[in-house]
Amino acid sequence: MTMPDEMSLPRAASTGAGRWPFDNSYGRLPERFYARLEPTAVSAPRLVKLNRPLALQLGLDPEVLALPESVEILAGKRIAEGSEPIALAYAGHQFGNFVPQLGDGRAVLLGEVVDTGGTRRDIQLKGSGPTPFSRRGDGRAALGPVLREYLISEAMHALGIPTTRSLAAVTTGDLVYRETALPGAVLTRVASSHIRVGTFQFFAARGDVEALRLLADHVIARHYPEASGYRDLYEQVIARQAALIARWLLVGFIHGVMNTDNVSIAGETIDYGPCAFMDAYNPETVFSSIDHQGRYAYGRQPQIGGWNMARLGEAMMPLFSDDQDEALRQANESLQTYQPLFGRELMAGLRRKLGLFTEQEDDSELAQDFLNILNDHGTDFTQAFRRLGEGTARGLFEEPAAFDAWATRWRTRTAAEPQDEATRRAAMQAANPIYIPRNHRVEAALSAAIEDGDYGPFEELQAVLVKPFEERPEFATYAEPPDASQSAYRTFCGT
Ligand code: AMP
Ligand code: MG
Repeated sequence: MTMPDEMSLPRAASTGAGRWPFDNSYGRLPERFYARLEPTAVSAPRLVKLNRPLALQLGLDPEVLALPESVEILAGKRIAEGSEPIALAYAGHQFGNFVPQLGDGRAVLLGEVVDTGGTRRDIQLKGSGPTPFSRRGDGRAALGPVLREYLISEAMHALGIPTTRSLAAVTTGDLVYRETALPGAVLTRVASSHIRVGTFQFFAARGDVEALRLLADHVIARHYPEASGYRDLYEQVIARQAALIARWLLVGFIHGVMNTDNVSIAGETIDYGPCAFMDAYNPETVFSSIDHQGRYAYGRQPQIGGWNMARLGEAMMPLFSDDQDEALRQANESLQTYQPLFGRELMAGLRRKLGLFTEQEDDSELAQDFLNILNDHGTDFTQAFRRLGEGTARGLFEEPAAFDAWATRWRTRTAAEPQDEATRRAAMQAANPIYIPRNHRVEAALSAAIEDGDYGPFEELQAVLVKPFEERPEFATYAEPPDASQSAYRTFCGT
């Protein structure tokens, strides 16, 4: 697939802003993996946020990235030398229904760079205009969701959770039309790749086993070089997914739209649309306005992760065996690894959060009972664990009887360990963030930026979130949950 080439964009000169160290591997795969295209020109690109530390890590000079010519590249108005823009083909199950063709409808992969740590990373523009995969969409993104993805993806990274990163946010000077006219923007997203469960499904649905094999080989070379074969690859993807979802639960993250096209094969959190962090602990929490059934509620994420891995197994079956029954048997056998791995990761994380250094059989009950108390009392999840470590959690409960009874058990359990209080406290502070991107804070930062052009609150919130474990008195209010008037929160798909 190719775009009509009536619009040809200026190519950057071989010096200065145009010189990005691209080394593109996905574009060497057959043409049916993507569509070549050039991003659409935008009117008046303006850089509103640049991630300088990430730029340096990618081997890019932040000063050069801020130059007007580079900003045009980050808005898709100009093409850097060595960039071979492509929109990736993929399919996916959306809310359980299979859609055989989705693809990058509003994103282009500019190319790949090998970062200073030797890792190959995709540089992608999101919101850069229509592609052959846009269907009825306009290919654009509004400033709000772009800033939201920037804040939350970088917060996830700071929390130590595998994620795509945000390199830059640029406003386009054009309006995008949703329910109202909104300022348009482009996010530069950095990922270890943009290959999804849905990418495998795209070829499986077409019976294209040759493409499946090429894709799997590419994924092994790029993300799982130690994998001994396709079965092993599948199990390693499962292991990373199980670990990822456990990490989400441990910080109260709700992805919101865990469709198989939004599941990265590399095990990174990807596609920050209606995602949000839970305040009061309740496993049924859903923020997304389109998730009517609560399919992607906080507490359903582990199960959905397994469902998504089952869909990956189905797609990979032709790689396991020519005999369908045998392939199915192998896929099922591998899939059985998901649940125990998830359970182990979650329990290890809960032990860290509770300051337990050793393992005992009834730790899981101890953790679950604490969560039940938070659920019963509508207690803030993040604050409860943080203040447990500080010895002030009791103050969170109006009626502390249940907490007191539980705390006695917890103290008995911890007292049996050799570590002293200071050690436990430090370990708990390192496991339990004090600052998360709370919805009311994110909304306030976005509306100041969008409605008043005031990026102060956005910058301050970003500064808070890049060090989520380090208490800073000047930011004390950022640790607080919303008051009642701020808590009926809804999120919308990042369009
Ligand atoms: P998402 O739910 O954001 O992961 O997107 C699902 C599919 O819709 C993907 O194929 C996207 O590329 C596509 N899509 C989302 N928003 C737009 C848009 N504004 N224009 C074109 N395609 C879009
Ligand atoms: Mg998506």
